[in-house]
Order: sequence, then structure tokens, then C-alpha cells
Amino acid sequence: TSRFSTLRLAQTNGPFALEAAFRADTDLRKVNLIIGAYRDDEEKPWHLPSVTEAKRRLELGHSHHEYLPLQGSPKFVEVSKQVLFGPKIVQQQQPFLASIQTVSGTGANSLVAMFLEQKHLRPTNIWLLNLTWINHGDIWKVNAPNVSVQWYPYYNDAKRALDFDAMMETLQRNCLEHDTILFHACAHNPTGRDPSQQQWRELAHLCLKKRLFVIFDSAYQGCASGDLDRDAWAIRHFVSHPSIELAVCQSFSKNLGLYGERVGALHLMVHRSNPNGPNLAKAVQNNLIDLQRACVSMAPLFGSRVASEVLGNEDLQQMWKSDLSTMSGRIRAMRSALRDELLKLQTPGSWDHITEQTGMFSCTGLSKEQVEDLQLKHHIYLLPTGRASMCGVTSTNVSYIARAIHEVVS
Ligand code: PMP
Repeated sequence: TSRFSTLRLAQTNGPFALEAAFRADTDLRKVNLIIGAYRDDEEKPWHLPSVTEAKRRLELGHSHHEYLPLQGSPKFVEVSKQVLFGPKIVQQQQPFLASIQTVSGTGANSLVAMFLEQKHLRPTNIWLLNLTWINHGDIWKVNAPNVSVQWYPYYNDAKRALDFDAMMETLQRNCLEHDTILFHACAHNPTGRDPSQQQWRELAHLCLKKRLFVIFDSAYQGCASGDLDRDAWAIRHFVSHPSIELAVCQSFSKNLGLYGERVGALHLMVHRSNPNGPNLAKAVQNNLIDLQRACVSMAPLFGSRVASEVLGNEDLQQMWKSDLSTMSGRIRAMRSALRDELLKLQTPGSWDHITEQTGMFSCTGLSKEQVEDLQLKHHIYLLPTGRASMCGVTSTNVSYIARAIHEVVS
């Protein structure tokens, strides 16, 4: 008999299975509100003009296909730092920073989990948000099996708002020194609710007081407000406390529309008032390279070329900023349109949260049964948790979606 005879099927990844069901649905009215990839007003993937222009300039027909260095493309690593932290922090804190190109945001999350467990820090707990991106729990269980996954309250479903008091209370009471905590830098997936600047200040104080190692997952810079600097505010605020040591998992999937190219970076900043900091940062960098070498050798070349071209040229960067406004502006407009339609229909309940949330997703507050009804009766697909990707809403289908929601909640 086979040594694999007791192996069971792994649970199919929820959103991807639902996506397959959507594709198989032949009804012409069908609407995809599942996966977080930007769509234009015709429900099509959008080619960012800045990215199209970068590819044209790169004359890719003549480019080579050699390996990247183990740390990744030096140009890409430099421009990704500049966009994330801003030139002032990079100039002042460069010696305390270790950066490595990764297999997008997922690769950065996995690498930092592995690094913390295997190299020195060995936190007792990783504190993840309840709710969060569905992959976070698995990433930690697979890559850092000796770190215990703990959940802190983040979102109050009944109030459709951040559960800030419960969050602070749980963290104050339960975090141990050197525990690690994960935050979303902006445009929280799936709730679309971020802490206010005042709440970020309080969280930074708590992390200082409890001596926590902080990880920011930055998968949506520029996708929340449309402004790269504003969306990096929380990260830069934490950096302004020299003794908070932190890592940032940076993804360019959404904000450059380079989903399949797997473009991202991991940045880790050590204590900024430690005279030995620059040596520690070098050791971190060297260990990150070593770990990633064992997993994937190095990150892929193509997407990082495109990203470097866009981020590294003033005129293309301006074009990119305008692309970010286009994407975030369309999503904001669709949020307003959906809320207005529901108000017009006098759909029971309050729908203000749809316009108050930011980024690609909305926790609609629809129940599992209502979501099932939407799919079976109206061919509208969203996650069973009620998370809808606002990218699938267009000026053509918004009133159909509103009428369907009205029917299932009435
Ligand atoms: N973090 C969050 C919060 C996400 O929503 C996603 C993508 N859905 C990722 C990380 C990872 O994306 P990628 O690996 O494409 O960068």
C-alpha cells in the first residue's frame, strides 16, 4: 500500500473554490464580489497606464533572464523603501534597516514568521487580528509552528466598527514581552476599517510599554486614500519611536496591479538608538537572505523590473499616483452608489458603513444565509462571512446588486 494512503484532501482554499463556482455559472447577470483584484467599470482587469508605459520603456524583448542577486534587485529594494518610509526616514534610518525582495506580500509574511521563530527572537505568541486576511493564521502555523497563534479583538460585527476598547484591553492584559503583533498598515482586509491616527498613537504606546515586536502588513498602500504617504502614516509613526523594532511586509500586487508577478519586499528595522544597530541590521539582512535561499533562492525578476521603472522615474511615479487615484476613486464612487441605491429602496438596516469603510473590501453585515440567497437566487458571489470585494461593483450592475440585497434582507 502507499505510504500516503491515510492522507486526506486538504481543505480547498475558500475564495478560490468560490471563484471556480462563479466561472462555471452561466447566468448572464452573475456578479463577482469575491477576490480582491481591481476591476474597471466594465468588470475587466485594468492595465495601469504607468505600468504599460514602464513595460514599453524597458524594451523587454532585449532584456536578459539571469538570476537576481539573493537580496533581490538593488534598485527595486531601494525604491520600495523610499515609497514605503519616505525619503526622510530612509536617509536617517538606513543603517538600522534590513531589506530583502520577496515573493510578494505572502512571501514577506512567511519569511518574517520563519525568521522570528528560527533566529533569535522566538516569541511565545503571535497576536493576529480577529478578523484578518484568511492566510495569516496558516502562514504562522506552517512557518513558525512553535509560536502560538493568539487572536485579539479587532472588529465588532454588530456595530460594524473597530472594537478598539476590547482590542486594547486584551493586549494590555495578555501580551508577553517579545510577543509579536500584526497590524494592517491601511485598508484592512476584510473589514475596510482602520484605526484613527489617535488610536495608532495609543497602539504604538502599548507596543512600547509591552516591548512587542511589531509587524505591519502593507498590501494596499495607495489603495485606501489614493495617497501613498497618507496610507503609510501608521508605519512612519511607529518608526518615529526609536525603540520600537518592526518589520513591514510590502506587496505591490494591488497598487501596481502586478498580481501574478509576485513583487514585494520585507523590511526589518532594529532599535534606532542602539550604537550597535547597524551591525545588527546587517546580521538580520544576512539571516533573511539565508532563510529565503533555502525556500526559493531569490524573488522573481520580471515584476521587480517593472516596479523599479515606475517607482524610480519621476514622471512614471506621477502617472502611478494618478492611477492610484483612479482606482481608489472608482471604488469610493461605487460605495456611494451602492449605499444610495439601498437608501432609495428603503432597504431595512443602516448602510452607512459601506461608505465609511476604505479599500477594496466591505464587511457588508449580510448573514451566511443571506449570502447563500444572493448566490442561489441572484448569481451574486461573495464570501460566506459577508465580505464583498467592492472592485466587482460597476455603474452597470450596482442597481441589480442593490435590488438583490434588498430582496434577501427584507
Ligand atoms: N496581506 C493582505 C492583508 C492581503 O490582503 C494580501 C492579498 N490578498 C496579501 C497580504 C498578500 O498578497 P500578495 O502575496 O499577492 O502580495
